[in-house]
Amino acid sequence: MHSKGATTSGVSKDGISDSSSALKKNSKKPKYSRFTQQELPACKPILTPGWVITTFIMVGIVFIPIGLASLFASERVVEIVHRYDDACVPHWEIDDVASFLEVLSSSSVKGIGEDRMCWRGSSKDGFRVRHYYKNLLPSAGIVVPWKRIWKTNAPPLVAFFVWVAALGRILTIDNLRRRHVMVLDWCCMCKENGESISHLLLHCPVARELWSFMCSIFGLRWVMPGGVLDLLYSWGDSCHSIGVRKVWDMVPPCVFWCIWGERNARSFEGMERNLMEVKGTVLRTLLGLV
Ligand SMILES: [Zn+2]
Repeated sequence: MHSKGATTSGVSKDGISDSSSALKKNSKKPKYSRFTQQELPACKPILTPGWVITTFIMVGIVFIPIGLASLFASERVVEIVHRYDDACVPHWEIDDVASFLEVLSSSSVKGIGEDRMCWRGSSKDGFRVRHYYKNLLPSAGIVVPWKRIWKTNAPPLVAFFVWVAALGRILTIDNLRRRHVMVLDWCCMCKENGESISHLLLHCPVARELWSFMCSIFGLRWVMPGGVLDLLYSWGDSCHSIGVRKVWDMVPPCVFWCIWGERNARSFEGMERNLMEVKGTVLRTLLGLV
């Protein structure tokens, strides 16, 4: 009987333990830990001045080598400047390009069809060189006194040279340097100053001597203006005698041309004439052209 009871009680105990282990296996209750049960002690630092200062000092000490490394690295950085506007468009043509782009942006496209060449400088006559010339000149800027250039007895080559000089486009050294030609800025006429158009043709001591020589022939004293255009404007039509006026009108192109010729002979051929010879050349050229 006892053994039976023991047997039944043993069976019952095994049954309970089996059922509890089965329950444990099926249970989704998380395993106990202080983390999952949020029983960990909270971090509650007390920001005392000493603690804060020490922390900042430590952080500072950590960042010092990083900062030094960045500083040395930045000093090894090489800056390469590459201006696309200068590389693509020479700086002396930037204004022209800007005005050209302004014209393009102010124009509106009308109609539909293929692109074709057309001329809108004048409405009726089609393309005319004089309209083209007017369009090339700046509207609110300089106006070239064309009569004083083209309506003289000067040969077309000389007149063209005066025109280009008036527009500031002859290849003096300052213009060459603007076009990145490496050349010494030196006036071969006076051997003292740099060479610009106004200096070479008007203000150089050699040029001044030539101008005062020519003016003294006409009994005039002349104050030299600032540039070639100013000189052409101020050259004047005060003389009423047609014969004298013809000679008078020929003086600027003649002096310009002779100075340019002398300058080129000195620069490229190594030939240098003295001032008296240059004066003689100017006179002979003037008399030959009139
Ligand atoms: Zn000079």
